[in-house]
Amino acid sequence: MEFFSERNGELYVEGISCVDLVEQFGSPLYVTSKGALEKNAEAYINAFSKASFEVRFLYAVKANNNLTLMKILNRKGYGADVFSDGELYLALLAGFNRKYVLFNGNSKSEEEIRMGIEAGVPFSIDSLDELETVSKIAEELCKEVRIAFRINPDISPNTHPKIATGLKTSKFGIPWESVIDAYKKAVESPGIVVSGIHCHIGSQIKDVSPFVEALNRVFDVAEKVEKLGVELEFLDIGGGLGIDYEGIGAPTPKDFAEEIIPVFERRVKDLNSKPELWIEPGRSIVGNTTILLTRVNAVKKAYKNFVAVDAGFNLLLRPAMYGAYHRVVVANRMSEEKRDVYTIVGPICESGDILAEDRELPEVKKGDVIAVFDAGAYGFSMSSQYNGRRRCAEVLVDRDRVYLIRERESYPEIVGRQIVPPEFA
Ligand SMILES: *Cc1c(COP(=O)(O)O)cnc(C)c1O
Repeated sequence: MEFFSERNGELYVEGISCVDLVEQFGSPLYVTSKGALEKNAEAYINAFSKASFEVRFLYAVKANNNLTLMKILNRKGYGADVFSDGELYLALLAGFNRKYVLFNGNSKSEEEIRMGIEAGVPFSIDSLDELETVSKIAEELCKEVRIAFRINPDISPNTHPKIATGLKTSKFGIPWESVIDAYKKAVESPGIVVSGIHCHIGSQIKDVSPFVEALNRVFDVAEKVEKLGVELEFLDIGGGLGIDYEGIGAPTPKDFAEEIIPVFERRVKDLNSKPELWIEPGRSIVGNTTILLTRVNAVKKAYKNFVAVDAGFNLLLRPAMYGAYHRVVVANRMSEEKRDVYTIVGPICESGDILAEDRELPEVKKGDVIAVFDAGAYGFSMSSQYNGRRRCAEVLVDRDRVYLIRERESYPEIVGRQIVPPEFA
């Protein structure tokens, strides 16, 4: 089934017209197809179903932390990768199995560490300082913590430099050549159970070979870690599989699995333990499930043809931050011919507030609805209230049913937790 399609000149999400959605819920509006989400979740499960080893999928919460979406993934058997106290809180609310909620992060506070240990989740540890703190707090709380170290595998995938995380110069992880000293220390640390090895090489990677390289590095480390008398529970190669923003193709979970499975099966034979493979997909689970609908407030012919819409980098930061490309269509003119070249700009008081540059579209008019595709990952989760703009609503479409899964923010939420001292009242 096509989850996003054209019917009678309008864009539909499953069985619902986008024009109707904006009429009912207002604009801007994030719209997620439940079918697309389940399809992506199942694609990973099916891709690895023939592996001779156990595989766990830990959804990367930072990509999209909507609770309803996380509950759907939880029902599919997913765990979660969290990167902060707030994401841990959300993952626990969503009900993920704590055994498979990995607490990541390169700079965890004592407060966050305490929260994670009390919740009983495993940790990915990024430094010896963190190991020391985790051990100390675990002892205090009389708890045992399963840990992995995040290794820096020194791999440079071909992606945007801001989202490459496995380079030698990246802030993440411990250099893979020297991580064994950290493991030695961990084995001797009270409250610490050495359980795994973790790495994550970056995001929007459209080539499978860097993942294979990373997996090999993880196995190189695993062989040494086992010599310390450790039973490895999991080897985690992170997330990062890219999606097809431009319509030029991208590797699928199946392509990914076909390269990863044989390497894992070959190399695990040399280990004494039988570790599970953990994978942490974010973008490739939620990215293409969601569109951002935004109403045209004005069309202006200046040096360029500008289409001013009601969503900007406050709601979708990727174009402004990474120069990212998102496909756009006019949701109420799907069958009209392309007439001109337009630049879609948001309402934010910054000239960098551009959603899409120089796009051929049908003649755009005030009141039209623009749909921005592939906005499900790092869209709402990176949104802000900049310029005093309320965050928009989110809806979930399941065939002919629509569920409001997040209300639009109110004005008091713009005021937030501010306190005006009586002297200034
Ligand atoms: C961001 C992140 C992921 C998910 O990356 P995607 O590119 O969205 O798949 C997985 N693991 C860790 C540690 C991350 O930081």
